[in-house]
Amino acid sequence: MSFRAIRVTKDEQGHRVETVTLEENDLHEGDVTVAVDYSTVNYKDGLALAHGKGIVRTYPLVPGIDFAGTVESSTHASFAPGDKVVLNGYGVGEGHDGGFAQKARVSGDWLVPLPAGLSTRQAAAIGTAGYTAMLSVLALEDAGLTPGSGDVLVTGAAGGVGSVAVALLARLGHRVLASTGRPAEAEYLRALGAAEIVDRAELSTPGRPLGKERWAAAVDSVGSHTLVNVLAGTRYGGTVTACGLAQGVDLPGTVLPFILRGVTLVGIDSVQAPMERRIRAYERLARDLDPALLERMTTVIGLDEVPGIAERILAGQVRGRTVVDVN
Ligand code: NDP
Repeated sequence: MSFRAIRVTKDEQGHRVETVTLEENDLHEGDVTVAVDYSTVNYKDGLALAHGKGIVRTYPLVPGIDFAGTVESSTHASFAPGDKVVLNGYGVGEGHDGGFAQKARVSGDWLVPLPAGLSTRQAAAIGTAGYTAMLSVLALEDAGLTPGSGDVLVTGAAGGVGSVAVALLARLGHRVLASTGRPAEAEYLRALGAAEIVDRAELSTPGRPLGKERWAAAVDSVGSHTLVNVLAGTRYGGTVTACGLAQGVDLPGTVLPFILRGVTLVGIDSVQAPMERRIRAYERLARDLDPALLERMTTVIGLDEVPGIAERILAGQVRGRTVVDVN
């Protein structure tokens, strides 16, 4: 009945990552126990593993903000043994034991039934980054973006959110500009559907409050000067979504894009997103994300390799999505 997990602890030596063997009752309480097939490594997991600051709210903790697997036991009305499920956020891997383990015990209120057509491996490959990319695309569509509206910029394009956003937007018929700091990934981004590569150096340093109108919409996962420049280059009436802080949490800009060009900035939160929105996002991912491209952006690692990846994701060196085969 015991199983393997990665756990972060804190003692006199500070924050530590260890591989442990646990029993189900070692996990935080929940009304559904899931046999985890796959977890994934997101930027936030990198932070939880590297130092925990701003992410880990209780010690010891099994990190891992998402997972996909099969229900093993349940007292929740909506789930029964054998159901395939996926979980993203809700503080799992932050304040409640998460996905870097062979078992997870969580509230059934946090679980999304896997939509038809998606395997647990594919759901994990999408992961929180990919689901957040879909939430961003939904927000652009809700704001009126349609194919033909104009170019759509994706920043942090070779990362997890960025890769899925590029693939989704291109498949939906948009002309995608992919901003990356890694010229070596240009071919990868073109294969995902990018029409043009933008050097991220053009966007990452302080620029003019209003620039040439270059894109109709944008998905930003970078924040800071990049987001300010993205807003400054957005066409009249355009929409920009902000979900990330890979460059920084600051927003050192002006209100001019809003008050002179009617640009809209939409915040994207995946952690507490309402269940209806999650279900809508997964249905769209099952329909609109090319499985071959999802596979192309995915690297699979074992549980033992998880701690090593933390530093690399924080340094922006991880391409696409990293799936953890916990078994
Ligand atoms: P990744 O590390 O996979 O991707 C981030 C990308 O940002 C990198 O690949 C890199 O892209 C770019 N980047 C990294 N550092 C810098 C920098 N200093 N300046 C400019 N660009 C940089 O992370 P994820 O895709 O998993 O997450 C992206 C962001 O979105 C994170 O900040 C994460 O916390 C946030 N996020 C937020 C969610 C929410 O609910 N709001 C949910 C999921 C993620 P390239 O090499 O192509 O330039």
